[in-house]
Parts: sequence; C-alpha cells; structure tokens
Amino acid sequence: EKKFVINFSAGPAKLPETVLRQAQKEMVDYQDTGVSVMEMSHRSADFSKILNTAEQNLRELLEVPDNYKVMFLQGGGTGQFSAVPFNLMKLKPGESNAAVFVFVLRALNLYMINLFPLHAPSNLTPLCSDFPAIPEPSTWNLNPEASYVYYCANETVHGVEFKTIPETNGVPLVCDMSSNILTRPIDVSKFGVIFAGAQKNIGCAGVTVVIVREDLLGHAMDLCPSIFNYQVQASNNSLYNTPPTYSVYIMGLVFNWIKGQGGVASMDRNSSVKSSAIYTVVEESEGFYCCPLDAACRSRTNLPFRIGSVEGNDALEKKFLEEATKAGYLQLKGHRSVGGIRVSLYNAVSVEEANLLAGFMRNFMAENR
Ligand code: PMP
Repeated sequence: EKKFVINFSAGPAKLPETVLRQAQKEMVDYQDTGVSVMEMSHRSADFSKILNTAEQNLRELLEVPDNYKVMFLQGGGTGQFSAVPFNLMKLKPGESNAAVFVFVLRALNLYMINLFPLHAPSNLTPLCSDFPAIPEPSTWNLNPEASYVYYCANETVHGVEFKTIPETNGVPLVCDMSSNILTRPIDVSKFGVIFAGAQKNIGCAGVTVVIVREDLLGHAMDLCPSIFNYQVQASNNSLYNTPPTYSVYIMGLVFNWIKGQGGVASMDRNSSVKSSAIYTVVEESEGFYCCPLDAACRSRTNLPFRIGSVEGNDALEKKFLEEATKAGYLQLKGHRSVGGIRVSLYNAVSVEEANLLAGFMRNFMAENR
C-alpha cells in the first residue's frame, strides 16, 4: 500500500497504478523468460512482440490509416523540433519555407533555436501572438507554397488547446500532440506528421511516437542524422538503432490499459468531465481563482490559474501549494515561466481524483477569500 497522493504533474506524469504494478511484477522475470525487458535484445522475438503489439494497439486506438507509418523513436519532442524540418523542408523545390503556428513567443523561440542555423529565420512564417490565444482562422494568411504547416495541438505551459484541426488546403500539416495525444479522437488522415513524447499521456520518458504519411518519406536533407530520418526509421520498423526498449514496453502497457478503459472515446469523455470540474470552480469563484484564457481554447489537460487576482497573489498561491501538498495533491506549481498554479489532467488521472481536487479548491477558497 502506498500513501495517498494524487499526482497532477505536467510531465513526466502520473501512470495508471495497474500499469506500474504489472511492470513491477514483470520487472525481474518477464513472462517466464527469466530476463527483464531491460535485458532483452531489441531484435529478440520477445521484444519484437512487445513493439509490434504496441504499434498495433496504437493504430487501433487512433484508427491510423494504412498509408501511415508509426515509429517509436528517441529524442523527445525537442528531437522532433529538429527532425521535422530535416525531413520536410525539402518537400518543395527551390527555397524552402515553413509556416509555424505558435501562439506564444517562447515556444516559437524554442522551435527557431532548433531550426537555426539551418534556415534563415525569414524562411519561417511565424503566426503568433504574445497573448496565449489562437488567432482567428480568417487572419491566418497561410502561405500555399510552404513545405508544411506546423502547430502544437496543446500548449502545455499556458494551457491553450486547438479544438479543431487547422485547414491548410493541401499543405502537409505537422502537429505536436505531446500533451493531448489519446485524450480525444482525431482524424489522422488530416495530418502529414503527428508526434508526441510519451511522458505525459502514454508512458514514461524516453520514447517519442511519430506518425508519418508515407508520401512524406524520402525527402530528408542530406545532413539529416540517420536516427531522425523518417525513411530510414520507417523502413527498419523503428529498429535502425536500439529503441528505448523499456519505455516502449511501458507505453504498450498503457495502450492496453486505455483499451481496457474503453479506448479514446472514454478518455475523451473523462477529459471533459475532469476539466469541467476544475474550470467550474474557477468560474464560480467570482475572481478568487483567475484563468484569463478564452473558454474556447482552454486546455482540458493543462489548466493554469492564478489565485487572488489575474496577476496572482504570491502569499496565497504559496499557501495553496503547501496545503495541497500536505493533503497529497502533488505537483500543482505552475511552469516557472508563468508562475501560479497548473493542474495537469492526463489520462491516468481519474474523474474521482479531479473531483477531489475541485473539493479542495472550494474549501481553500472558503477559508481564504
Ligand atoms: N512539446 C510539448 C507540447 C511539450 O509540452 C514539451 C515538454 N513539456 C515538449 C514538446 C518538449 O518535449 P521533450 O521534453 O520530450 O523534448
């Protein structure tokens, strides 16, 4: 029995306890093989089965069409910030160009740092605003000649989530789904590339899911590192180099768990119920809890808010975090760049757990307003 806690971390984040218990049971001796998954060759029959089953289950959960490759790579989301331009910038002959949809400058900077000095920043068309919000689609002015359009489906720091898929009129769409993958059904056929680090919704750190439409393979720049080359990895079934084997195994257990819970439809329903429970407390607090984001783009997985005023009241926020930690509600501190409170409600956090936190927030408000 472990002590009562609810882990609201933004990532690496809570895993389903049944997954951890199964990993514990199998850690030293995986299914009577006499060895741990950590000790297996990535080319062994046992590991191949783990990898192929994980891929099959992900395909099923996301209804991935047959003309898409699914890869399990290393390097995290940050690795993909570089892999995407390496693989796609040359899709269009002549001067390469990419449109990047980022709604906060910091995220744009991160992406630019990873492109630069490969591309002059002028080759990037940033569509962004300082205030975390999604600009009106009518103002987007997308370049039809761009090699691809890039966006982040759920921005983890400020809690901004796209509720619909941007229309790019045939320009390949690339999406970072690190913080909301498998929390809602998506039409994979609308995307050129989808990627997501595992450590939030689907497993532990170390493995990155990359889903690529087949016609986008084979266009990588000469200087693209082989481990990031989609064509190389896809044609080797993610085994060009040693994949993060244990992280793939844990992710496979999480996929089984999601299937057992009723699949993505069930994660989607839970996600709405959980986030509503918290946002309702914020809305009904008459300014005690403040979330300035437009309701239309509020994230269901990362819910940031301030206490006392829009700018936050340091003393009250400190008290909130101390009392929450004492009660077992962990990792609620906002990202260091924005401060305040952030509640992350990934798949492994249950409806009951979100409701408990909502109750705690109500009590804290009653005692401190
Ligand atoms: N994309 C998103 C949406 C993220 O939240 C993060 C990290 N929090 C990253 C990319 C970077 O991922 P990594 O740390 O795996 O490189």
